[in-house]
Amino acid sequence: MQDALYCVYGASGCGRGIMPLAREQARALGMAADRLVFVDDAAQPGQVLNGQRVLSYEAFMAEPAGTRFAALAIANSAVRAKLAARLEADGVRPWTVAASNVVVMDEVELGEGALLSPFVTLTSNIRIGRFFHANLYSYVEHDCVIGDFVTFAPGVQCNGNIVIEDRAYIGTGAVIKQGRPGEPLVIGRGAVVGMGAVVTKSVPAGATVVGNPARVMQK
Ligand code: UDP
Repeated sequence: MQDALYCVYGASGCGRGIMPLAREQARALGMAADRLVFVDDAAQPGQVLNGQRVLSYEAFMAEPAGTRFAALAIANSAVRAKLAARLEADGVRPWTVAASNVVVMDEVELGEGALLSPFVTLTSNIRIGRFFHANLYSYVEHDCVIGDFVTFAPGVQCNGNIVIEDRAYIGTGAVIKQGRPGEPLVIGRGAVVGMGAVVTKSVPAGATVVGNPARVMQK
């Protein structure tokens, strides 16, 4: 049986931020250093990035391996969803990568393939779907429900009793006001919350909101 092969999929900004965490996790699993690679569809032959090989997806699949694992380190939700479907079809397992200083409190359900950057906190009684990204210093407070392929840029403050539906993107430093028990503030499916927005009420699916208080941007 060949050794497992692990990758950070995406060799750009997001991936370069995740690779050191992945490396630390790989070391803790006792993996040889060369069993962790970047995968990128724009890989150049022989490319090395920050000390790690960069393979095309085809080369990653062709490399002899037992089980293959991938951490999807691309911020764009739609791209993540497309790639997750391909990985699943090819039998590549989702890999959750979390910084060693992430704080996770009680009763947190975290879906597969999450990426949790340094200084992230998930407090208590939270449900999070698949392939969640929480970038540096973001937090999720009590009683939140977060869907699949949701992305938090750095410093997102997601307070209590908030529902964030699938594929929503929350920009850097956004603050989301807490909802009430049984009456959550809802960020709709695929909505985009702009950088620094202060969200005081629910956001419709697909809308982009900006400012303080956050308002829907007309297209
Ligand atoms: N990418 C890929 N397959 C795709 C879409 C994107 O391998 O289907 C790669 C792309 O080549 C790039 C990275 O993912 O290297 C995305 O980088 P970008 O700077 O756009 O976003 P971020 O790193 O911030 O998520």
